[in-house]
Amino acid sequence: MHRLKNKTCVITGAARGIGRAIAACFHDEGAIVILTDLDEAAGADAAAEIGCRFEPLDVREESDWARLSTLVPMADVVVNNAGITGFEAGMTPHDPEHASLADWREVHRVNLDGTFLGCRYAIGAMKGKGTGSIINISSRSGLVGIPGAAAYASSKAAIRNHSKSVALYCAQQGWKIRCNSIHPAAILTPIWEPMLGTGPDRDARMQALVADTPLKRFGMPDEVAAIALMLASDEATYVTGTEVNIDGGLLAGSAASPG
Ligand code: NDP
Repeated sequence: MHRLKNKTCVITGAARGIGRAIAACFHDEGAIVILTDLDEAAGADAAAEIGCRFEPLDVREESDWARLSTLVPMADVVVNNAGITGFEAGMTPHDPEHASLADWREVHRVNLDGTFLGCRYAIGAMKGKGTGSIINISSRSGLVGIPGAAAYASSKAAIRNHSKSVALYCAQQGWKIRCNSIHPAAILTPIWEPMLGTGPDRDARMQALVADTPLKRFGMPDEVAAIALMLASDEATYVTGTEVNIDGGLLAGSAASPG
């Protein structure tokens, strides 16, 4: 209990899904949580239910980060969680041959630019004390190619690499500011809705999506929050520049393995 007692924790994209689970978990562990999201109504509702503070933040906007830095000048933990697949407004081609430049840029703008700005803000908010934990939510898709979601995969791979640059930079400065990435796969949140649909084949689609996952099920947001808690806490003070996969065993093997 209270593994984050009195730590100020900023979480982006936390109105729902994984970010919300992290906010609730950190709050339960004694943190002072600042739940942020683009969606002001949903963010305020989620914060009220958890019992924490809400601040609107569009991770793409440098001015939003500047505003947050005046409201929350000191932070102990920043979780860069906000992310999009690019399919939110409907299924458009995202393969390397047909993806539009606009779609490609928008996915990178939220996922990569948002994480870059979040890391920069986090460093500014942490360097006074010289300690802190930055947690970037990447994806299993940042470790393998995804032909049908090329921009998403590219942005998540870049998050993985940038997390290591941030970790090394902070270490070079002599700060105990750690930076790590988490790589979930198939966690049951609203991000899957456009792909699952509402039709009669929804269950079949769900089963098909986890058919190659050794644990044969979707993961739950709380299971990702547990990893974030470990990385945020002082139990992980020697963990920096690394990545944690949470994927039901998916990356442990290969569909091409014999028998
Ligand atoms: P959700 O879509 O459920 O939640 C994402 C949240 O981010 C939403 O509240 C959304 O708000 C918000 N958001 C979107 N754009 C912005 C923005 N520009 N600024 C601030 N907030 C924004 O996603 P998940 O909880 O599933 O995913 C969270 C993270 O985990 C993402 O980075 C995702 O890529 C990653 N991930 C998820 C996996 C999964 O299987 N669920 C697997 C691998 C990685 P709004 O509703 O207004 O758009």
